[in-house]
Amino acid sequence: MAFDFDLYVIGAGSGGVRAARFSAGFGAKVAVAESRYLGGTCVNVGCVPKKLLVYGAHFAEDFEQSSGFGWTLSEAQFDWATLIANKDREINRLNGIYRNLLVSSGVTLHEGHAKIVDPHTVEINGERHTAKNILIATGGWPQIPEIPGHEHAISSNQAFFLKELPKRVLVVGGGYIAVEFAGIFHGLGAKTTLLYRGELFLRGFDGAVRKHLQEELTKRGMDLQFNSDIERIDKQPDGSLRVALKDGRELEADCVFYATGRRPMLDNLGLENTGVKLDKKGFVEVDEQYQTAESSILALGDVIGRVQLTPVALAEGMAVARRLFKPEQYRPVDYKMIPTAVFSLPNIGTVGLSEEDAREAGHEVAIYESRFRPMKLTLTECQERTLMKLVVDAKTDKVLGCHMVGPDAGEIVQGLAIALKAGATKRDFDETIGVHPTAAEEFVTMRTPVAG
Ligand code: FAD
Ligand code: NDP
Repeated sequence: MAFDFDLYVIGAGSGGVRAARFSAGFGAKVAVAESRYLGGTCVNVGCVPKKLLVYGAHFAEDFEQSSGFGWTLSEAQFDWATLIANKDREINRLNGIYRNLLVSSGVTLHEGHAKIVDPHTVEINGERHTAKNILIATGGWPQIPEIPGHEHAISSNQAFFLKELPKRVLVVGGGYIAVEFAGIFHGLGAKTTLLYRGELFLRGFDGAVRKHLQEELTKRGMDLQFNSDIERIDKQPDGSLRVALKDGRELEADCVFYATGRRPMLDNLGLENTGVKLDKKGFVEVDEQYQTAESSILALGDVIGRVQLTPVALAEGMAVARRLFKPEQYRPVDYKMIPTAVFSLPNIGTVGLSEEDAREAGHEVAIYESRFRPMKLTLTECQERTLMKLVVDAKTDKVLGCHMVGPDAGEIVQGLAIALKAGATKRDFDETIGVHPTAAEEFVTMRTPVAG
């Protein structure tokens, strides 16, 4: 049977665009459908605008610290509307770049909502297109628990477009988005409370990292409330929100921001017309080569719920393109040693195993830690401290994990990830000459274990 396309990609986000472009580059006839915004979550309501807002929030500290270096500034004024307008302009520019990338690589772009009508056919804007393979790359969507008054809360999708900076913000959740946005709101001057249902936020990260960030955020005046959860939200006549907690307490806020995870985006996708199966959490189930239970349909990225990070979706997109159209170059994605950063203020950078996970996996570990006041702060009043930590296998000497809380942690950990992927030992770290004077050199000068 002759198909209109070799590959029909649904979703022009990180993974979909990567798979579409490279498949076209390998000579395939490819179409991509996009219902909302080119570049997907990362470009429009994720990594990119988030990082711009983090940069914006960081200026508050820079202004404060500059006096130690002899600067005198008149009182700094911040205008949210300017930041959002400039951010929007940059995102528009990136949307254009994504359009050009697709068109110039020969991909046909269909703008609209795509629905699968049978295992080889997609319907969009009233037209049907057939394809040998369909790739579901539809990403995720914020998930807010349906407590009474949840309609008064916002998610990250709305936070990027608020008309003004709320005066009092209650951030709910203890994952990446909650911690990053609490830092943004707090840095920009909102009275910010972070409410998390568990003992300590960032479950899954190294224990020392979680504790260190808790201390640093508390020093900065952020209100952290753990073991707390919301029962209901009521809108007051003046527009403010009264929030009742499960423990009987009440809080007031102008904005309640939920960051409690993301569900797969499968709305009106037509999966009922296929044999595609979902896993227990509702994500699309795929095998190790991203094939669903329907042999002509593949899926990748956030919609398969493995690791919800842009570089992972990109790697999966590349793997799918190669698997379908350049099988001799196919290499499976390695999900071990994925470095990641939380762009809280200060940043977290991490790669490899946490101390807890290493012990649980049966490693006999040696722990190296360094805590210090960053050099840049020595001429200021700021008491912020940086944490660096290495988790080493005491038997093999292999470095199992590197963790950092401090300025530029995300930047620093990228290079360390290469070392860990290459199997670096603690001896390799010790024999590496430092770059002086930097914070990063601490990673190669930690000599005495603090715990074994
Ligand atoms: P997406 O990028 O979500 O793309 C899916 C696309 O499919 C969307 O454009 C959607 O409109 C489209 N679509 C859905 N259904 C249909 C349909 N039926 N028809 C047509 N089109 C459809 N990751 C990082 O690595 N670093 C970060 O700093 C980071 N920060 C983040 C901050 C926030 C606030 C959020 C929400 C996420 C962040 N992420 C970050 C995660 C990252 O954005 C995602 O992992 C990544 O975008 C997933 O890519 P994807 O291709 O799977 O899906
Ligand atoms: P996460 O899964 O990281 O965190 C969700 C948080 O919400 C957890 O603390 C969880 O608590 C809590 N939670 C879940 N359900 C409820 C509930 N019903 N009531 C109260 N609390 C609840 O999700 P995010 O939304 O923060 O981010 C989604 C994903 O996007 C991340 O996992 C990450 O992969 C990606 N991302 C990456 C970034 C980066 O690379 N810098 C930045 C932003 C997002 P508990 O721990 O108790 O389960």
